[in-house]
Amino acid sequence: MIEIKGLKKSFGTHEVLKGIDLTIQDKEVVVIIGPSGSGKSTILRCINYLEVPTGGDIVVDGISMNDAKSINAVRMEVGMVFQRFNLFPHMTVLENIMLSPMKTRHISRKEAEETAVSLLRKVGLEEKKDAYPNTLSGGQQQRVAIARALAMKPKFMLFDEPTSALDPEMVREVLDVIKALAKDGMAMAIVTHEMGFAREVADRVLFVDGGYIVEEGKPDDVFSHPQEERTKEFLSKIL
Ligand code: ADP
Ligand code: MG
Repeated sequence: MIEIKGLKKSFGTHEVLKGIDLTIQDKEVVVIIGPSGSGKSTILRCINYLEVPTGGDIVVDGISMNDAKSINAVRMEVGMVFQRFNLFPHMTVLENIMLSPMKTRHISRKEAEETAVSLLRKVGLEEKKDAYPNTLSGGQQQRVAIARALAMKPKFMLFDEPTSALDPEMVREVLDVIKALAKDGMAMAIVTHEMGFAREVADRVLFVDGGYIVEEGKPDDVFSHPQEERTKEFLSKIL
C-alpha cells in the first residue's frame, strides 16, 4: 500500500503540490488526470523520490520517505515507466532488462536471464531478445521498458504518460500490456490522456488541478457525472 499524506512540493517559490492525500491499496489501479503543468508527474516522481517533497509524508509498503536511508528500499518496490523509454542503446533488449536486477538485487546472470525472457514473453517480444533498441518500433521499445521495470519485481508500478510519445497505431499494444498487468493484480498509478483506457482499467480516477486533488471517484462517476466545475471544464476540452 502507498500512503501519501499532505504531500507538498515547491520549485523555488512555485508551489506545485499544496497538499495531496492519496492512498493506493494493493491491487488498486489509480488513474491521474489533469491539465498540463498541474503536477501529475511531480506526484509520481515524489513517490519514488526522483523529487524530494517539501512537505508531508509518503509511506510505501510501510517504509516512510522521511527516513533518507529508505530511498533505495522504496525504489526497489516501485517501478516507473516514462513517456520516453530511455533504453540503453548499446545493450540488447535482454541486457537492458537484466542489468538492474543483477546490479541491485545481486541475482545470478542465469536467473536474471530467465526472468527477462519470461517478461519478454509477457509483453509479446520474446523474439526480440537479442535486438538493439533502435531496431524496434516505439511501441516495442515501450513494452521493453515495461518489462525492464517489472524485472525488479516491484510491488507498485507508476506510469507517466506511457503512450504520449508513440505514434497512434502503437498506443493500443502498450495499453494492452498495462491492462494485463492490472488484471494480474499489480497496483499502479497511471497518468494518461487516454480517457477510454482510463475508463477500462481504473478502479479510481483522480482529477488534479491547482495543487490539489479536486475530485476523485469511480471512472464512470468522474467522467460521466463530474461534480466540480473545474473537472467539468477540463473534461469538456478533452472528451
Ligand atoms: P504535469 O505532469 O501535470 O504536466 P508537472 O508535474 O510536470 O506537471 O509540473 C508541474 C509544474 O512544476 C509545472 O509548472 C512545471 O513547470 C514545474 N516543474 C516541474 N519540475 C520542475 C523542476 N525540476 N524545476 C522547476 N519547475 C518544475
Ligand atoms: Mg507530466
